[in-house]
Amino acid sequence: MAAEKRAFQAEVSKLLQIVANSLYSEREVFLRELISNASDACDKLRYLALTAPELAAEDSTFQITLTVDPDAKTLTIADNGVGMDAAEIEANLGTIARSGTEAFVAGLNDDASKEHGLIGRFGVGFYSAFMVADQVEVLTRKAGETAAWRWSSDGLGEYEIDDAEKASRGTAITLHLKADAAEFLESHRLRHVVKTYSDHISIPIVLTGQPAADDDDGAAEGEQTTDETLNQASALWTRPKAEIDAGQYTEFYHHIAHAFDDPWLTAHWRAEGVIEYAALLFVPSQPPFDLFHPERKHRIKLYVKRVFITDDCEELVPSWLRFVKGVVDCEDLPLNVSREMLQNNPVLGKIKAGLVKRVLSELSKKADKSADEYAVFWNNFGAVLKEGLYSDGAEHRDALLPLTRFKSTAGDALTSLADYVGRMKPGQDAIYYITGESYEAVAASPHLEGFKAKDVEVLLLSDPIDDFWISAMFEGFEGKQFKSATRGGTDLSKIDADEAAEADADKADKPEEKTSEALAPFIANLKTTLGDKVKDVRESERLTDSACVLVADEGDMDIHLERMLRQHQQVKEAAPRVLEINPKHALIKSLAAGASSGKNPQELEDAALLLLDQARIVEGEAVLDPLGFARRLSAVMQKAATL
Ligand code: ADP
Ligand code: MG
Repeated sequence: MAAEKRAFQAEVSKLLQIVANSLYSEREVFLRELISNASDACDKLRYLALTAPELAAEDSTFQITLTVDPDAKTLTIADNGVGMDAAEIEANLGTIARSGTEAFVAGLNDDASKEHGLIGRFGVGFYSAFMVADQVEVLTRKAGETAAWRWSSDGLGEYEIDDAEKASRGTAITLHLKADAAEFLESHRLRHVVKTYSDHISIPIVLTGQPAADDDDGAAEGEQTTDETLNQASALWTRPKAEIDAGQYTEFYHHIAHAFDDPWLTAHWRAEGVIEYAALLFVPSQPPFDLFHPERKHRIKLYVKRVFITDDCEELVPSWLRFVKGVVDCEDLPLNVSREMLQNNPVLGKIKAGLVKRVLSELSKKADKSADEYAVFWNNFGAVLKEGLYSDGAEHRDALLPLTRFKSTAGDALTSLADYVGRMKPGQDAIYYITGESYEAVAASPHLEGFKAKDVEVLLLSDPIDDFWISAMFEGFEGKQFKSATRGGTDLSKIDADEAAEADADKADKPEEKTSEALAPFIANLKTTLGDKVKDVRESERLTDSACVLVADEGDMDIHLERMLRQHQQVKEAAPRVLEINPKHALIKSLAAGASSGKNPQELEDAALLLLDQARIVEGEAVLDPLGFARRLSAVMQKAATL
């Protein structure tokens, strides 16, 4: 085939421009990226060779070599991994194949990002080669095939693919170093960069052609060379914890998770019991972009006796721990385990139980140690962890509930349930919460008025999962039931208010004692007018400022939950709600007076319907009859305007 010029995908061109101008100090990460790819390629082939040993037969010792040609000013990074065929080169090196790089490019519009070491922190994969090279050549041959390919580019918008000769499988990437990148021809520089970023790679990284140490008579001149392995070349998770420093863990996390933040939590242990395994797990400090994506990746890699098996094993952690990344290396599975065999495997089941227990106990330790640090985790992953209360609550409720944190009416800081219970008022027997679409919406809800007046704390919940897990917590927390503040049957009068608040409440309450009687004709009137549009009409205990509110009757489904289920077609019809009216509100008082006098029945009927619609709007529901609503509202405004 004749060499063919092709254009890079537009995003790649954009990325390459940034890469070419990247800051001097971050350029060395190119080596980390290329070595990481080489190591992945070896892992892939090692796995394929478990079932097709002929693929790796010619040479079964995996290694990565670095070769310098000082005259040609080239550095070559070569591996004997899986290699690529023509279609794979095209897809992998001409477009942005990897999600992390895509996210990086998306963030590039912000000019400031270029100055803040983004490349160093995020890595841009293969394309980082163009930070140090003005010409890159990739010679590759896929394991099991004889055809080889040469990909080359100057990184300026086009690349070329041509057929080629290559004696053995794998990939060799030759960088024609830029004039100002000659430092990467120096062995001490390469040694340092590999040690810093790639020491954890489990395959030997060998620097070829190093001058041999003088042996006997010192007469050996020039020609004597040897190879030098630059990394420890043992899987990091097999080494004792005491010998690994934080920097090495971080570099390993970057490699294994294809992530570039710092781990928020690192847990490294070896389980020796019925089942033997080593685990090195991380909780990221930043949420991955696909956390709630249905096709999100599982990020724990399964190894068996140091051999990479899969990074797509759903059986290792439940989906509510899907933010955990890392490695599990098991001694008790056969090496030729197929991915099918992993499903419902009892060994994996036991490992999973061990991982869950350990991660939850590590989270609990972090929560005890620093509330601020824990809040970072909670804001990133709390919504995911709460899924566990819903799906695996029976098993993990006791471990998960103490890990939850909430915004509440008590202040800006997140609160734990234990702290909430500690602040409960005498006579308060439930943990009150309100759910809704957003923090702002729930914080401003009229349902909270009575609670605020009595200084009774309410948890403010706004994650979609909240309605689900909380309605599954039948046993409550420490003997206290969860109770929605939007539901009827909330007997606030039983709760002792603070002295100050009580004095206020007394002042407000006493002159109103007879309101019930005064309200009766109006309530009767509302019931007749609204009919089966409402379940009931009641005098409210929870309102102080608003005129009316809709509540779920005790035992009925929470309004917000019902709306979510309706959106997902899981509930067809909205159940009628209870309309509560505020006896202390001026509007209600004058409407009640009107109802008692029996005058203006038409106006009263309009007002009844408007009150209901108003309560529905506040609840985030549509008005019942938009045309009728508009007509009634206009009539009211007309009247006000003619006054
Ligand atoms: P990532 O490693 O995150 O996937 P890169 O930009 O580093 O992104 O690499 C893109 C793709 O190119 C890799 O996913 C892999 O499929 C392919 N690739 C890169 N280097 C090699 C290599 N040495 N051997 C085989 N495939 C490679
Ligand atoms: Mg890569």
